[in-house]
Amino acid sequence: MLGLSTKLRDVLGAKTATALNEALELDTVGDLLAHYPFRYAKRGEQTSLNALSIGDQVTVLAKVRAAVQKPMRNRRGKLLEVTVADDAGHTLTLTFFNQPWQARKLTPGRWGLFAGRVSEFRGRRQLNSPDCRLLATDEDPDDSEAIEEFAGALIPVYSASAKVPSWTIARCVRVVLDLLDAPGQHLSVPDPIPSSLRTELGLVDRLSALRHIHRPGSETALAAARKRLKWQEALLLQTVLVRRKAAAQRDAATPRPAGGAIAEAFDKRLPFELTKGQRDVGADIAADLARSHPMHRLLQGDVGSGKTLVALRAILQVVASGGQAALLAPTEVLASQHYLSIHQLLGDLASAGQLGAPEEATGVELITGSLPAAKRRAATQRVAEGSAGIVVGTHALLYDGVDFADLGLVVIDEQHRFGVEQRDALRAKASAAPHTLVMTATPIPRTVAMTVYGDLEVSRLTELPAGRSPIVTHVVPASDARWMDRCWERLIEEVKAGRQAYVVCPRVGDGQAEDSAEPSSAEPQTEPQRRPAASVLDTLDELAQGPLRDLRLGLLHGRLKPDVKDATMRAFAQGDIDVLVATTVIEVGVNVPNATMMVIMDADRFGISQLHQLRGRVGRGEHQGLCLLVSGAAGPPGGGASVQLANLADGLSPTRARLEAVASTVDGFKLAELDLEQRREGDVLGDAQSGSKSHVRLLSLLRDVEIIEQARAIAVRLVGDDVTLSDHPALAAEVEALAAERGEYLEKS
Ligand code: ADP
Ligand code: MG
Repeated sequence: MLGLSTKLRDVLGAKTATALNEALELDTVGDLLAHYPFRYAKRGEQTSLNALSIGDQVTVLAKVRAAVQKPMRNRRGKLLEVTVADDAGHTLTLTFFNQPWQARKLTPGRWGLFAGRVSEFRGRRQLNSPDCRLLATDEDPDDSEAIEEFAGALIPVYSASAKVPSWTIARCVRVVLDLLDAPGQHLSVPDPIPSSLRTELGLVDRLSALRHIHRPGSETALAAARKRLKWQEALLLQTVLVRRKAAAQRDAATPRPAGGAIAEAFDKRLPFELTKGQRDVGADIAADLARSHPMHRLLQGDVGSGKTLVALRAILQVVASGGQAALLAPTEVLASQHYLSIHQLLGDLASAGQLGAPEEATGVELITGSLPAAKRRAATQRVAEGSAGIVVGTHALLYDGVDFADLGLVVIDEQHRFGVEQRDALRAKASAAPHTLVMTATPIPRTVAMTVYGDLEVSRLTELPAGRSPIVTHVVPASDARWMDRCWERLIEEVKAGRQAYVVCPRVGDGQAEDSAEPSSAEPQTEPQRRPAASVLDTLDELAQGPLRDLRLGLLHGRLKPDVKDATMRAFAQGDIDVLVATTVIEVGVNVPNATMMVIMDADRFGISQLHQLRGRVGRGEHQGLCLLVSGAAGPPGGGASVQLANLADGLSPTRARLEAVASTVDGFKLAELDLEQRREGDVLGDAQSGSKSHVRLLSLLRDVEIIEQARAIAVRLVGDDVTLSDHPALAAEVEALAAERGEYLEKS
């Protein structure tokens, strides 16, 4: 029986199968058919021969203009030089040594596909001895098998390798599809989308979709095939996630009813009104915690939207009923910040065991990797016996040695730094599954949340607490001395007015390999790095001896000793430091409301989301925040706030456009989408030739919002009807297979 799991060697022969396997890791018929064309060439289309880069392996469609044979100058034999052109008139030279028969094929006027590596000779781009496939003409419609291969109007172009060119893949695909279509063939091509659903959604069946994505008879057929295959990707992914979520909901958890002395006392003494979002999300969480199944909730909210407060109220609900809560932060700086602000917010409600403490008070512990052994022992002791209701820490909490008396809630701040594995490790510390609240300030587009965090309920805080004025951001060209002077003057004015400021640099600059101070690797690096980026050490020196010599400057970066970091953060929070020169260690969560200005040096070295996160550190209090993005790529001063996102395509360099986008809006969700868009572009360009085995090949998290949302709803319906999906064995089988690989995918993301 022939099917998707049939080995390629059984249908294509050992030699071809080995080549496909070595070059593209294709092993089965299913693998080959899932190697979709990455584009379709059209006869007469503009291939833009002038856009080819030296060294690239390319397949181009072009028309032969002229062919000239010359004797070789230094050795015997003949050189054939063929000029091909695209519609715009750009030309490319093909050279052949001692292949006189090529001259008979490559006659002027013929269209062909040419594949090879682009090189340069005397300023002209050329392909040396490229592989050629000529297209059929009206006069000789079926000249050879190769021509017949591309008789269709849309010619599939595959990501290929030098060993396995695009048309070899096309030929193999045809062989396989013809076999699948042969009459009397016993086929096994199960369709994971049930036929009733296909009818409901107007989707073609799997085999037709595969046929048409590889050999489209028309644009319409291709569109139908793509739609169907996108749906398949979305439905499988969502079914895996919905099942995972359903499974988690069957676990037992200890219910933690709302109310209780410490929670009520805290609400009573809150110095401000909760925002509507904080109240609504708070009510959802309170209801979740009261249930006998574990909560798995993601709380999204822009920096400063008051997530920590929402988390603390959830923590107190659990503590009030005798349970414990752990709050995990990605760095020690952040963990101690949380510890301090929890103490501040709770006041004497955090002073259990001390003289005069209210009866409902609890204990708060900070446990980090740098805690001295004796203190750590005492702290873990209080956690183990339950006198500490709240434990704040880094992932050091995950390692052995910290046991809880009754862990009821895990709050994870800034999820993007935590892997799923770590989440699970912490959950394993509780006897019954604890409730989990994940907080992130990186605004994730809804569809990404639905896919990457699809096993969590999602809540959002969309408004900032009242009385905040949105931060103003400008791009400052580093090369313009007057602007830079003005920038430091402005900072001095801010300090004179009693405020504080940050100066952020991409590097530490102590000669060691850069780690956390570098922009994350996921951020686009669109321009070559010409010189090392500004470092905190150099910048601190320059400012201390130059423009900021009269101010009190502090230094913060990831490689300082924990107690030094702590002391610096404390001094800054208390107002003993005017200007903190820092790396991105201050990116997340650091909360000093009196800091109102941030200068980001070499801002172009950071990605969009990271810049947005960084500037979220200022303007957290009642005063207007100001952020200056200093960039060598800035050129003449731009319109700052007046530049719209739509202008991104209009001639600004990608780097400059990124900075202007950040300057133009404070809408984190808009920026997150833009970030994703740029990143995907990068992915597409980077992976186009690699033939990666991702399960999301056609689906775009950005553009296919509707499909993803509908697929989600359908997955919920199917899993709700029957978790085992027994009525849909083909879907069940593929979901199982994907779930097995999915764990890996989640951890990487
Ligand atoms: P996030 O963690 O979402 O970045 P925080 O919880 O750190 O935000 O809150 C930022 C600041 O706003 C803190 O100083 C906090 O005390 C304050 N805050 C939180 N909620 C409110 C509110 N409803 N009204 C006024 N200030 C608030
Ligand atoms: Mg926070």
